[in-house]
Amino acid sequence: MTRTFNFSAGPAALPDEVLLEAQRDLCDWQGKGLSIMEMSHRSDEFVAVAERAEQDLRDLMSIPDEYRVLFLQGGATSQFAMLPMNMLRGKTRADYINTGIWSKKAIAEAKRYCDVHLAASTEADRFLRAPDAAEIQLSAETAYLHYTSNETIGGVQFDFIPDTGDVPLVVDMSSDILSCPLDVSRFGVIYAGAQKNIGPAGLTVVIVRDDLLGQTLPGTPTMYDYQVHAQGGSMHNTPPTFGWYLAGLVFQWLKRQGGVQAMAEVNRRKAAKLYAAIDQSAFYANPIAVSSRSIMNVPFTLADDALDAIFLKEAEAAGLLNLQGHRSVGGMRASLYNAVPEAAVDALVSFMADFEKRHG
Ligand SMILES: *Cc1c(COP(=O)(O)O)cnc(C)c1O
Repeated sequence: MTRTFNFSAGPAALPDEVLLEAQRDLCDWQGKGLSIMEMSHRSDEFVAVAERAEQDLRDLMSIPDEYRVLFLQGGATSQFAMLPMNMLRGKTRADYINTGIWSKKAIAEAKRYCDVHLAASTEADRFLRAPDAAEIQLSAETAYLHYTSNETIGGVQFDFIPDTGDVPLVVDMSSDILSCPLDVSRFGVIYAGAQKNIGPAGLTVVIVRDDLLGQTLPGTPTMYDYQVHAQGGSMHNTPPTFGWYLAGLVFQWLKRQGGVQAMAEVNRRKAAKLYAAIDQSAFYANPIAVSSRSIMNVPFTLADDALDAIFLKEAEAAGLLNLQGHRSVGGMRASLYNAVPEAAVDALVSFMADFEKRHG
Protein backbone atom coordinates (compact mmCIF):
# COMPACT_ATOMS: atom_id res chain seq x y z
CA MET A 1 0.00 0.00 0.00
CA THR A 2 1.35 3.43 -0.97
CA ARG A 3 -0.12 6.34 0.92
CA THR A 4 0.82 9.89 -0.01
CA PHE A 5 0.56 12.98 2.17
CA ASN A 6 -2.79 14.51 1.29
CA PHE A 7 -3.32 18.23 1.89
CA SER A 8 -6.75 18.35 0.25
CA ALA A 9 -9.20 20.97 1.55
CA GLY A 10 -12.11 18.54 1.19
CA PRO A 11 -13.00 15.80 0.74
CA ALA A 12 -9.87 15.49 2.81
CA ALA A 13 -7.44 13.01 4.32
CA LEU A 14 -8.76 10.26 6.59
CA PRO A 15 -6.62 8.40 9.13
CA ASP A 16 -4.89 5.32 7.67
CA GLU A 17 -6.06 3.25 10.66
CA VAL A 18 -9.68 4.15 9.95
CA LEU A 19 -9.45 3.26 6.27
CA LEU A 20 -7.84 -0.07 7.09
CA GLU A 21 -10.55 -0.84 9.63
CA ALA A 22 -13.25 0.01 7.10
CA GLN A 23 -11.47 -2.11 4.49
CA ARG A 24 -11.23 -5.07 6.84
CA ASP A 25 -14.95 -4.80 7.61
CA LEU A 26 -16.10 -3.83 4.13
CA CYS A 27 -17.41 -7.17 2.83
CA ASP A 28 -18.03 -8.88 6.15
CA TRP A 29 -18.90 -6.51 8.96
CA GLN A 30 -18.13 -8.11 12.34
CA GLY A 31 -18.70 -11.62 11.04
CA LYS A 32 -22.26 -10.88 9.88
CA GLY A 33 -21.45 -11.84 6.29
CA LEU A 34 -22.47 -8.53 4.78
CA SER A 35 -21.30 -4.94 4.55
CA ILE A 36 -22.52 -2.23 6.90
CA MET A 37 -23.60 -0.48 3.67
CA GLU A 38 -25.98 -3.33 2.90
CA MET A 39 -27.82 -3.30 6.22
CA SER A 40 -31.09 -1.70 7.17
CA HIS A 41 -30.59 1.55 9.03
CA ARG A 42 -33.17 0.19 11.47
CA SER A 43 -31.30 -3.04 12.17
CA ASP A 44 -30.03 -3.57 15.71
CA GLU A 45 -26.50 -3.67 14.30
CA PHE A 46 -26.65 -0.33 12.54
CA VAL A 47 -28.55 1.38 15.35
CA ALA A 48 -25.76 0.32 17.71
CA VAL A 49 -23.14 1.76 15.35
CA ALA A 50 -25.13 5.00 15.04
CA GLU A 51 -25.65 5.37 18.79
CA ARG A 52 -22.02 4.67 19.55
CA ALA A 53 -20.93 7.32 17.02
CA GLU A 54 -23.21 9.89 18.59
CA GLN A 55 -22.02 9.03 22.10
CA ASP A 56 -18.38 9.24 21.05
CA LEU A 57 -18.96 12.64 19.46
CA ARG A 58 -20.75 13.77 22.62
CA ASP A 59 -17.80 12.59 24.71
CA LEU A 60 -15.21 14.21 22.43
CA MET A 61 -16.96 17.59 22.35
CA SER A 62 -18.48 17.40 25.87
CA ILE A 63 -21.89 18.11 24.32
CA PRO A 64 -24.41 18.95 27.06
CA ASP A 65 -27.58 16.83 27.38
CA GLU A 66 -29.87 19.62 26.20
CA TYR A 67 -28.36 19.45 22.70
CA ARG A 68 -29.46 17.11 19.93
CA VAL A 69 -26.92 15.72 17.48
CA LEU A 70 -28.27 15.24 13.96
CA PHE A 71 -26.64 13.16 11.22
CA LEU A 72 -28.00 14.64 7.99
CA GLN A 73 -27.35 14.86 4.27
CA GLY A 74 -27.16 17.87 1.96
CA GLY A 75 -23.81 19.28 3.04
CA ALA A 76 -23.12 22.48 4.90
CA THR A 77 -24.61 24.28 1.91
CA SER A 78 -28.10 22.93 2.69
CA GLN A 79 -27.65 24.28 6.21
CA PHE A 80 -27.38 27.77 4.73
CA ALA A 81 -31.16 27.47 4.03
CA MET A 82 -32.10 25.11 6.85
CA LEU A 83 -30.80 27.61 9.41
CA PRO A 84 -33.11 30.52 8.68
CA MET A 85 -36.01 28.09 8.21
CA ASN A 86 -35.50 26.75 11.72
CA MET A 87 -33.89 29.62 13.56
CA LEU A 88 -35.94 32.70 12.60
CA ARG A 89 -38.64 31.54 15.06
CA GLY A 90 -41.15 34.21 14.08
CA LYS A 91 -38.56 36.95 13.64
CA THR A 92 -37.67 38.56 10.31
CA ARG A 93 -34.04 39.48 10.78
CA ALA A 94 -30.81 37.58 11.29
CA ASP A 95 -27.27 38.86 11.86
CA TYR A 96 -24.27 37.53 9.98
CA ILE A 97 -20.54 38.14 10.16
CA ASN A 98 -18.91 38.33 6.73
CA THR A 99 -15.36 36.97 6.69
CA GLY A 100 -15.10 35.54 3.19
CA ILE A 101 -16.42 33.15 0.60
CA TRP A 102 -18.27 30.73 2.87
CA SER A 103 -19.92 33.43 5.00
CA LYS A 104 -21.00 35.16 1.79
CA LYS A 105 -22.71 32.01 0.58
CA ALA A 106 -24.50 31.60 3.91
CA ILE A 107 -25.58 35.26 3.75
CA ALA A 108 -26.84 35.02 0.17
CA GLU A 109 -29.02 32.04 1.05
CA ALA A 110 -30.36 33.63 4.26
CA LYS A 111 -31.44 36.69 2.25
CA ARG A 112 -34.03 34.52 0.56
CA TYR A 113 -35.80 34.13 3.91
CA CYS A 114 -35.13 37.24 5.98
CA ASP A 115 -33.45 40.62 6.34
CA VAL A 116 -29.76 40.05 6.83
CA HIS A 117 -27.87 42.54 8.96
CA LEU A 118 -24.08 42.46 8.78
CA ALA A 119 -22.96 42.49 12.40
CA ALA A 120 -19.36 42.77 11.17
CA SER A 121 -17.52 42.45 7.89
CA THR A 122 -13.86 42.42 7.01
CA GLU A 123 -14.50 42.79 3.30
CA ALA A 124 -12.93 46.29 3.31
CA ASP A 125 -9.73 44.58 4.49
CA ARG A 126 -10.00 42.02 1.68
CA PHE A 127 -10.89 39.37 4.26
CA LEU A 128 -7.31 39.22 5.51
CA ARG A 129 -8.45 39.00 9.13
CA ALA A 130 -11.34 38.06 11.40
CA PRO A 131 -13.12 40.96 13.14
CA ASP A 132 -12.31 41.93 16.72
CA ALA A 133 -14.95 41.21 19.34
CA ALA A 134 -15.55 44.97 19.71
CA GLU A 135 -16.43 45.33 16.01
CA ILE A 136 -19.38 42.95 16.23
CA GLN A 137 -22.63 44.95 16.51
CA LEU A 138 -25.85 42.98 16.86
CA SER A 139 -29.04 44.53 15.49
CA ALA A 140 -32.20 44.82 17.55
CA GLU A 141 -34.72 41.99 17.18
CA THR A 142 -32.26 39.68 15.49
CA ALA A 143 -33.12 35.97 15.55
CA TYR A 144 -29.51 34.77 15.71
CA LEU A 145 -25.91 35.59 14.86
CA HIS A 146 -24.18 33.40 12.27
CA TYR A 147 -20.45 33.24 11.66
CA THR A 148 -17.92 30.99 9.96
CA SER A 149 -15.33 29.98 12.53
CA ASN A 150 -12.81 29.02 9.86
CA GLU A 151 -12.87 30.33 6.30
CA THR A 152 -11.57 27.27 4.49
CA ILE A 153 -10.63 29.13 1.32
CA GLY A 154 -9.25 32.36 2.79
CA GLY A 155 -7.43 30.65 5.66
CA VAL A 156 -8.95 32.98 8.28
CA GLN A 157 -10.01 31.62 11.66
CA PHE A 158 -11.63 33.24 14.69
CA ASP A 159 -9.50 32.98 17.82
CA PHE A 160 -12.50 33.75 20.06
CA ILE A 161 -16.22 32.94 20.32
CA PRO A 162 -18.43 36.00 19.75
CA ASP A 163 -20.48 37.01 22.77
CA THR A 164 -24.15 37.38 21.85
CA GLY A 165 -25.83 37.42 25.25
CA ASP A 166 -29.29 35.84 24.87
CA VAL A 167 -29.21 35.83 21.07
CA PRO A 168 -28.53 32.29 19.78
CA LEU A 169 -25.11 31.92 18.23
CA VAL A 170 -24.86 29.80 15.07
CA VAL A 171 -21.59 28.63 13.59
CA ASP A 172 -20.46 26.96 10.39
CA MET A 173 -17.63 24.80 11.73
CA SER A 174 -17.22 22.68 8.60
CA SER A 175 -13.46 23.00 8.51
CA ASP A 176 -12.45 23.27 12.16
CA ILE A 177 -14.89 21.17 14.17
CA LEU A 178 -13.01 18.75 16.45
CA SER A 179 -9.71 20.55 15.87
CA CYS A 180 -9.59 21.89 19.43
CA PRO A 181 -11.71 21.94 22.61
CA LEU A 182 -14.91 23.99 22.37
CA ASP A 183 -17.51 25.23 24.85
CA VAL A 184 -20.62 23.91 23.08
CA SER A 185 -22.91 25.61 25.61
CA ARG A 186 -22.05 28.98 24.02
CA PHE A 187 -23.90 27.98 20.84
CA GLY A 188 -27.46 27.54 19.62
CA VAL A 189 -26.41 25.59 16.53
CA ILE A 190 -23.09 24.15 15.37
CA TYR A 191 -23.00 22.56 11.92
CA ALA A 192 -20.34 20.99 9.75
CA GLY A 193 -20.08 19.07 6.51
CA ALA A 194 -18.19 15.88 7.34
CA GLN A 195 -15.71 15.79 4.50
CA LYS A 196 -13.08 18.03 6.10
CA ASN A 197 -12.52 16.98 9.68
CA ILE A 198 -15.07 14.23 10.36
CA GLY A 199 -15.40 11.62 7.64
CA PRO A 200 -16.51 11.14 4.04
CA ALA A 201 -18.65 13.54 2.00
CA GLY A 202 -22.39 12.94 2.19
CA LEU A 203 -22.79 13.40 5.92
CA THR A 204 -23.53 16.69 7.70
CA VAL A 205 -23.45 16.97 11.48
CA VAL A 206 -25.76 19.46 13.21
CA ILE A 207 -25.68 20.09 16.95
CA VAL A 208 -28.72 22.08 18.06
CA ARG A 209 -30.04 23.18 21.45
CA ASP A 210 -33.43 21.65 22.30
CA ASP A 211 -35.31 24.86 23.04
CA LEU A 212 -34.69 26.14 19.50
CA LEU A 213 -36.60 23.28 17.86
CA GLY A 214 -40.14 23.25 16.58
CA GLN A 215 -40.64 26.82 15.36
CA THR A 216 -39.96 26.46 11.65
CA LEU A 217 -40.90 28.95 8.96
CA PRO A 218 -44.31 28.10 7.41
CA GLY A 219 -43.79 25.96 4.31
CA THR A 220 -40.52 24.45 5.51
CA PRO A 221 -40.05 21.07 3.80
CA THR A 222 -40.26 18.15 6.22
CA MET A 223 -36.67 17.19 5.49
CA TYR A 224 -35.50 20.72 6.38
CA ASP A 225 -37.05 20.68 9.86
CA TYR A 226 -34.50 20.01 12.62
CA GLN A 227 -37.24 18.80 14.95
CA VAL A 228 -38.28 16.06 12.53
CA HIS A 229 -34.71 14.72 12.55
CA ALA A 230 -34.31 15.21 16.29
CA GLN A 231 -37.49 13.25 17.02
CA GLY A 232 -36.65 10.57 14.48
CA GLY A 233 -33.10 10.03 15.70
CA SER A 234 -31.90 11.26 12.26
CA MET A 235 -33.81 8.32 10.77
CA HIS A 236 -36.92 10.05 9.45
CA ASN A 237 -35.73 8.70 6.13
CA THR A 238 -32.68 6.64 5.25
CA PRO A 239 -29.66 8.40 6.74
CA PRO A 240 -26.19 8.35 5.13
CA THR A 241 -25.32 5.07 6.83
CA PHE A 242 -21.81 4.54 5.52
CA GLY A 243 -20.76 8.10 6.29
CA TRP A 244 -22.23 7.81 9.78
CA TYR A 245 -20.37 4.52 10.36
CA LEU A 246 -17.09 5.92 9.06
CA ALA A 247 -17.46 9.10 11.12
CA GLY A 248 -17.90 6.77 14.09
CA LEU A 249 -14.58 5.11 13.30
CA VAL A 250 -12.95 8.55 13.12
CA PHE A 251 -14.45 9.48 16.52
CA GLN A 252 -13.00 6.29 18.04
CA TRP A 253 -9.65 7.08 16.42
CA LEU A 254 -9.77 10.59 17.89
CA LYS A 255 -10.42 9.15 21.33
CA ARG A 256 -7.41 6.86 20.93
CA GLN A 257 -5.28 9.91 20.03
CA GLY A 258 -6.24 11.51 23.34
CA GLY A 259 -9.28 13.50 22.18
CA VAL A 260 -9.52 17.06 20.93
CA GLN A 261 -7.13 18.46 23.55
CA ALA A 262 -4.34 16.25 22.20
CA MET A 263 -5.35 16.99 18.60
CA ALA A 264 -5.26 20.72 19.32
CA GLU A 265 -1.65 20.49 20.46
CA VAL A 266 -0.58 18.60 17.35
CA ASN A 267 -2.63 20.92 15.13
CA ARG A 268 -1.05 24.03 16.64
CA ARG A 269 2.40 22.54 16.19
CA LYS A 270 1.74 21.57 12.56
CA ALA A 271 0.44 25.06 11.69
CA ALA A 272 3.27 26.80 13.57
CA LYS A 273 5.87 24.84 11.60
CA LEU A 274 4.32 25.73 8.26
CA TYR A 275 3.75 29.41 9.06
CA ALA A 276 7.32 29.66 10.39
CA ALA A 277 8.65 28.22 7.13
CA ILE A 278 6.57 30.73 5.15
CA ASP A 279 7.52 33.71 7.33
CA GLN A 280 11.23 32.88 7.40
CA SER A 281 11.41 32.92 3.63
CA ALA A 282 11.16 35.83 1.22
CA PHE A 283 10.01 33.36 -1.42
CA TYR A 284 6.76 32.22 0.25
CA ALA A 285 4.05 34.49 1.68
CA ASN A 286 0.79 34.32 3.62
CA PRO A 287 -1.13 37.60 3.88
CA ILE A 288 -3.43 36.83 6.83
CA ALA A 289 -3.18 38.84 10.09
CA VAL A 290 -1.24 36.67 12.52
CA SER A 291 -4.01 36.43 15.14
CA SER A 292 -6.51 35.30 12.46
CA ARG A 293 -4.35 32.71 10.74
CA SER A 294 -6.11 29.38 10.37
CA ILE A 295 -4.53 26.33 11.95
CA MET A 296 -6.48 24.14 9.50
CA ASN A 297 -6.04 25.76 6.07
CA VAL A 298 -2.84 27.57 5.19
CA PRO A 299 -2.89 29.44 1.87
CA PHE A 300 0.45 30.66 0.58
CA THR A 301 1.91 32.14 -2.57
CA LEU A 302 5.26 31.81 -4.31
CA ALA A 303 7.29 34.91 -5.20
CA ASP A 304 6.66 34.19 -8.89
CA ASP A 305 3.33 32.61 -9.80
CA ALA A 306 4.87 31.32 -13.02
CA LEU A 307 6.45 28.70 -10.73
CA ASP A 308 3.09 27.49 -9.35
CA ALA A 309 2.65 24.69 -11.85
CA ILE A 310 6.23 23.46 -11.35
CA PHE A 311 5.79 23.57 -7.57
CA LEU A 312 2.65 21.46 -7.77
CA LYS A 313 4.20 18.97 -10.18
CA GLU A 314 7.35 18.51 -8.09
CA ALA A 315 5.32 18.32 -4.87
CA GLU A 316 3.19 15.58 -6.35
CA ALA A 317 6.29 13.68 -7.44
CA ALA A 318 7.50 13.97 -3.83
CA GLY A 319 4.23 12.45 -2.56
CA LEU A 320 2.69 15.75 -1.42
CA LEU A 321 -0.78 15.95 -2.95
CA ASN A 322 -3.55 18.50 -3.42
CA LEU A 323 -1.63 21.67 -2.60
CA GLN A 324 -3.29 23.78 -5.29
CA GLY A 325 -5.08 26.85 -3.88
CA HIS A 326 -8.82 27.30 -4.40
CA ARG A 327 -9.66 28.25 -7.97
CA SER A 328 -10.95 31.64 -6.79
CA VAL A 329 -7.69 32.71 -5.12
CA GLY A 330 -4.91 30.75 -6.84
CA GLY A 331 -1.55 30.09 -5.21
CA MET A 332 -1.19 27.16 -2.84
CA ARG A 333 -3.16 25.90 0.12
CA ALA A 334 -2.18 23.21 2.58
CA SER A 335 -5.04 21.85 4.66
CA LEU A 336 -3.83 20.42 7.96
CA TYR A 337 -6.89 18.64 9.35
CA ASN A 338 -6.68 16.15 12.22
CA ALA A 339 -5.94 13.22 9.89
CA VAL A 340 -2.91 14.97 8.34
CA PRO A 341 0.06 13.72 10.36
CA GLU A 342 2.83 15.96 11.60
CA ALA A 343 5.21 14.01 9.34
CA ALA A 344 3.26 15.39 6.36
CA VAL A 345 3.98 18.95 7.46
CA ASP A 346 7.64 18.12 8.07
CA ALA A 347 7.87 16.68 4.57
CA LEU A 348 6.14 19.73 3.08
CA VAL A 349 8.39 22.18 4.92
CA SER A 350 11.56 20.46 3.77
CA PHE A 351 10.21 20.20 0.21
CA MET A 352 9.48 23.94 0.26
CA ALA A 353 13.01 24.78 1.44
CA ASP A 354 14.51 22.58 -1.24
CA PHE A 355 12.23 24.05 -3.92
CA GLU A 356 13.21 27.58 -2.91
CA LYS A 357 16.90 26.66 -3.14
CA ARG A 358 16.47 25.38 -6.66
CA HIS A 359 14.02 27.97 -8.01
CA GLY A 360 14.12 30.97 -5.65
C1 LIG B 1 -16.71 23.04 2.54
C2 LIG B 1 -17.44 24.10 3.28
C3 LIG B 1 -18.81 24.34 3.06
C4 LIG B 1 -19.61 23.62 2.02
O1 LIG B 1 -19.80 22.30 2.34
P1 LIG B 1 -20.65 21.31 1.42
O2 LIG B 1 -20.69 20.09 2.26
O3 LIG B 1 -19.90 21.15 0.14
O4 LIG B 1 -21.98 21.91 1.22
C5 LIG B 1 -19.43 25.32 3.82
N1 LIG B 1 -18.76 26.01 4.75
C6 LIG B 1 -17.44 25.81 4.98
C7 LIG B 1 -16.74 26.62 6.03
C8 LIG B 1 -16.75 24.85 4.26
O5 LIG B 1 -15.44 24.65 4.48
